[in-house]
Amino acid sequence: MKKILTVVLIIIGIVLLTGCNNDEIVANKLIIRTTSFPGYDFARAIAKDKANIKMLLKPGSEMHDFEPTPQDIKDIKNSDIFIYVGGESDEWIDDILDDVDTSKTKIIKLMDLVNIVEEEQVEGMEEESKEEESEETEYDEHIWTSPMNAVTIINKIKDEIIELDKDNKEVYEENANNYVDKLLVIDSQIREIVANSKRKELIFGDRFPLRYFVDEYYLSYYAAFPGCSEQTEASAKTLTFLINKVKEDHIPVVFHIELSSGKIANAISSETGAKVLEFKSAHNILQKDFESGITYIDIMNDNIKVLKEALN
Ligand SMILES: [Zn+2]
Repeated sequence: MKKILTVVLIIIGIVLLTGCNNDEIVANKLIIRTTSFPGYDFARAIAKDKANIKMLLKPGSEMHDFEPTPQDIKDIKNSDIFIYVGGESDEWIDDILDDVDTSKTKIIKLMDLVNIVEEEQVEGMEEESKEEESEETEYDEHIWTSPMNAVTIINKIKDEIIELDKDNKEVYEENANNYVDKLLVIDSQIREIVANSKRKELIFGDRFPLRYFVDEYYLSYYAAFPGCSEQTEASAKTLTFLINKVKEDHIPVVFHIELSSGKIANAISSETGAKVLEFKSAHNILQKDFESGITYIDIMNDNIKVLKEALN
């Protein structure tokens, strides 16, 4: 009996010791914090297990409603690298950046890394509500939706990571290159689909956070609301405009984005017979997809399938 007890105690001891060791290893890793999914995914693709990476936004939640907790702010201040997009939904960050010690924390604002365009109001879109209207120029923050922007962003994040951890330079370069290669495959697949497609127009019965995507591939679009709109109810005027567009241009697919009710797309579909499909903007992903390790590449591969259907 005594012997068994000793063996059990030894096993418990080993478990506890290895537990401590793991914590120590984690403590030595680069700490990377990101606000939303794209930054998280890109940093993860480059650093893999060489960094402790955490996304502040909870999987499955709406990026535009994000409110940081005191712990989130602590996490940002204690990170080696903090990655954020820098648009309207990240406005809260401006208030805390003054308190971040930039000699300890590298700050990467993704909107500084690529060319940005102003948020656009296209024909037929719901007018912005009074509260949403602002005097300042509003730039479209959804830069990551273009796979070519993703390439630029990944290379810049990779350089910053290498600067902090030169010993693993080759690993980071190899990981980044592998990811970029996959993005370039996606990019050429999309270009081929667009080049051979019957039409070059997309209809979204939803918000439209894909301006950088359509600009990259010379597609046109109509949508119910601009990218960051908080509106979810379309007026009869907007609905009628989109229904008529689908009918006139013989559009086979009407899109909604992820985490959306799909209400407007369904309404357009029931009037026109167009199929309703989801186009993913990759602001965030569902908890189950997060747990299974879904990447931006997986999301774009899903988008490629629905894009092909919508353009033919
Ligand atoms: Zn957005």
